Amino acid sequence: MRPIVIAANWKMNTTPADAGDLARTIASRTREPGVTRVICPPYVSLAAVRDALAGEDVGVGAQNVHHELAGAYTGEVSVPMLAGLATWVILGHSERRAYFGETDALIGKKLDRALAGGLRPILCVGEVLAEREAGRETQVVDGQLRGALEGRDPETLAGAGLVVAYEPVWAIGTGKNARGADAEAMAQAIRASLRALGWGSRADETPVLYGGSVTSGNIEEFLAEPGVDGALIGGASLKPDEMAGICARAGITAKARGLAS
Ligand code: PEP
Repeated sequence: MRPIVIAANWKMNTTPADAGDLARTIASRTREPGVTRVICPPYVSLAAVRDALAGEDVGVGAQNVHHELAGAYTGEVSVPMLAGLATWVILGHSERRAYFGETDALIGKKLDRALAGGLRPILCVGEVLAEREAGRETQVVDGQLRGALEGRDPETLAGAGLVVAYEPVWAIGTGKNARGADAEAMAQAIRASLRALGWGSRADETPVLYGGSVTSGNIEEFLAEPGVDGALIGGASLKPDEMAGICARAGITAKARGLAS
């Protein structure tokens, strides 16, 4: 049974002074049976969020990690540095790909490090607007998955709980969300790509999230789709009211899918 995951990507927002309070407020308003919650603050706020969430069943994640363990990489953070601070990590976010030149091959190396260090990865994939307009979204996402996952052991990846987030770039931070049917079609395409990579039944066990301008007002459209298992949320994840509404709806899906005890 796949989990329902609601993951908050705070991007470059909050400071160590205010992140703990925000995390505590969100945690207290989003306790829904069967919903896996994750908060990914900036690196410098990881400790504050971890401390604020002590005793809460909320995962803490980093938004990125370097592919080497240590060395002359000014400004970077490695997997060992995250020990005790984070148990999840977002990899391949479109903003990392667009602004920091991350390639599928690099993301694959980060994936290896994350897994070796016991971090649970949320691997982001998604097409830009021109690619969707050209009808190439499935091909693009397949290429991203292949580029990051090919040659890597499906059992290791699936065993570590790899989550794939389908995030069409044209929907991120734009207020223009995809339709539920688009997300469902891409979730099916992602699992078909995993099967083509030799994942077998592991493909059907892999959670696929939707991300891109998700709010409490549109989350229902995505969670109504059987292949969509939650959401990766940017802007709305900084607003406790929004997170409360999103998780309340996720709780309904968790119950309907037999995940809530
Ligand atoms: C994201 O950062 O992954 C994201 C989906 O952002 P937003 O919800 O703001 O579109």
